[in-house]
Amino acid sequence: MKPLQQLVRPNIWALKPYSSARDEYHGAEASVFLDANENPYNTPYNRYPDPLQSELKAALAPLKGVRPGQIFLGNGSDEAIDLVFRIFCEPKEDNVVAIAPTYGMYKVCADINNVVYRSVLLDKDFALDADKLLAATDDRTKLVFLCSPNNPSGNDLDREEIIKVIENFQGLVVIDEAYADFSAQKPFRTELDKYPNIIVLNTFSKAWGSAGIRLGMAFAQEEIIGLFNKVKYPYNVNQLTQQQAAEMLARRFDVDKWVRVLLREREQVMAAFAELEVCEKVFPSDANFFLAKVTGADEIYAYLVRQGIIVRNRSRVELCGDCLRVTIGTPQENSRLLGALRTYKAEEGGR
Ligand code: PMP
Repeated sequence: MKPLQQLVRPNIWALKPYSSARDEYHGAEASVFLDANENPYNTPYNRYPDPLQSELKAALAPLKGVRPGQIFLGNGSDEAIDLVFRIFCEPKEDNVVAIAPTYGMYKVCADINNVVYRSVLLDKDFALDADKLLAATDDRTKLVFLCSPNNPSGNDLDREEIIKVIENFQGLVVIDEAYADFSAQKPFRTELDKYPNIIVLNTFSKAWGSAGIRLGMAFAQEEIIGLFNKVKYPYNVNQLTQQQAAEMLARRFDVDKWVRVLLREREQVMAAFAELEVCEKVFPSDANFFLAKVTGADEIYAYLVRQGIIVRNRSRVELCGDCLRVTIGTPQENSRLLGALRTYKAEEGGR
């Protein structure tokens, strides 16, 4: 890995961050707060939230096998994705390399930040070839994006290939593990001390059942987290979200139960889906969704919409011709989907 300073935009390296009232006050327990121009009424929402979410990070760290200083919390992992561009990529000069197909926000954030986005196709089974990916990098490549389990294909990328990328790339490797709770593969977030050039993304939106509170996590070495903290909005995670996340951490056994149920359903739904007349192929999944190739994805998608059932039509995504992406729902929801597809008549477009 290059020295961190060479990877960070010079203006960000030199940035003197905004210092909020809540940043500046450290010391004994105080009871009179006249420092932040807040309203003294309407507790507890009159107060600004903790800018660094210390309590939440202290509770999360042992659960995730990292130190509190190795955690960034943001408004969804989408905030972390945007921040890595703003911290590391000089617009019009630097580039990033990502697998394809993959989660769409990496490219959107690259475009917003005017950073060249190079994509490297996975093979037809959505497997990663580290050498091919590395060949697309050059001296101005600051970041590589890997997503494992990958969206929309659902599969884990081969761990050895990921390690090959990490060990041979001179910049930073962002490993998006949004769906790792559904996978049996060892996650990378516990290997931050071994691999100083990785940034691992997790989220409360999937296994934790909390997409509505908008809370994403990035795990990286302390110096990188320090850069995130410098660039983020001062109070980027609101009080309600911090409270609700703490409640979810206390309910983590419910989360484990949800994951077990979803994994069991995943196996059953995928097996039943493979038997459908319209199904050509179900791709293996390590996530809470699966990708399936069908005969006439557009027609089937439209038919399901008419039945009030929404799946994701991925048929215009590279390597995903005629593919639908199906999220695992409750047993009842999954039965509705399968029932509707069993009565679908292709020649009539389901009419
Ligand atoms: N990464 C991946 C791979 C995703 O699929 C998603 C959401 N679809 C996200 C990140 C964004 O998650 P969040 O809700 O935390 O912004």
